[in-house]
Amino acid sequence: MTESVTPLQPAPRARVQQMMEYHPPLGSRQALRLDFNENTLACSPKVREALTAITTGALTLYPEREPVEAIVAQYLGLDEGQVALTNGVDEAIHVLFETFLEAGDELLLPVPTYTMYQVYASSTDARVITVQAGDDMQFPFVKLLGAISTRTKIIAIANPNSPSGSVATRQQLLEVARRAPQAILLVDEAYFHFYGETVMDLVGKLPNLIVARTFSKAYGLAGLRLGLLAAPLELMRWMRRVLSPYSVNSLALACLPPALEDETYLGWYVDEVKAARAEFEAALDKAGVQRWPCHANFVLTRIGARHAEFAERMRAAGVLVRDRSSDPGCDGCVRITIGTREQMRKAAAALTQALAALHAEGEGR
Ligand code: PMP
Repeated sequence: MTESVTPLQPAPRARVQQMMEYHPPLGSRQALRLDFNENTLACSPKVREALTAITTGALTLYPEREPVEAIVAQYLGLDEGQVALTNGVDEAIHVLFETFLEAGDELLLPVPTYTMYQVYASSTDARVITVQAGDDMQFPFVKLLGAISTRTKIIAIANPNSPSGSVATRQQLLEVARRAPQAILLVDEAYFHFYGETVMDLVGKLPNLIVARTFSKAYGLAGLRLGLLAAPLELMRWMRRVLSPYSVNSLALACLPPALEDETYLGWYVDEVKAARAEFEAALDKAGVQRWPCHANFVLTRIGARHAEFAERMRAAGVLVRDRSSDPGCDGCVRITIGTREQMRKAAAALTQALAALHAEGEGR
């Protein structure tokens, strides 16, 4: 949206005046938080120990990310230098777009998808080309291939995708990369752990593939802001020019190795979420709520015209959910994060009551 600029004040760049605004509803969240797809419990106790061990002396130093990047590269089976840590995947997206998108370029996006791709693209001179998923919310593979042009510079695919929960197969991703050799294929694997399939092993083998991962979801470290980019060295060297050498702080760097090492905790949390997801999906089916198959720690539901009232009633019952009805193709949709089985039983009870109340009100009207 273009905002008016007072004549005597310094004006921001024209692009910034037109930038898309994004204000996530982060206030008043003292409830069961099923609205941001975070880990709903805690990070590994090993991370907690690492945090406690940090000295004030250590905080006087600028953070040194390279040794930790080397640990992560080894963990992912990549070469040193192919991994850059970032201040969440959001910074990774920002840096990628700032490095590669310029006037005349196109960013190709299957939608609905993660909002920040459009937000960061709107500060560049590139055009965003969206490809709408059908009613089944499946990855629009054929339509996406058809939308590739000589101007396509980046194709961003969240896999699994949010808010739909859909996935693109490895073969489909390979085909997209092959059909757009002039472009970067960003595969955003923020929800990888709940799905299990990855193309990380192809980094450096395909010249135009970049993969992103976050520690905000399964690892339970959204507050630390920790993400990563994995890319061929030739692409990475340009992104490192744009990336701040200090954007990942010392606390995050200290917590990363224990988070990676504690695979038992991660595995336990992921299994718990998957069990809760199956139970919750059954509860949705029983309540007659339309939903789409999901490969991550959330489920997209279609509540219908009274989605906002539904979200309000859930909030009143102590359960936060996310209204996604203004996302493209998501009329009446609400996204619900999956937590533990115990939490989801509470959510299912609140949902049944909220729907019953809406129904009763509807009858009485
Ligand atoms: N990618 C996707 C698909 C996401 O859903 C999110 C978070 N909602 C992110 C990236 C951002 O992750 P981070 O917290 O690491 O910035």
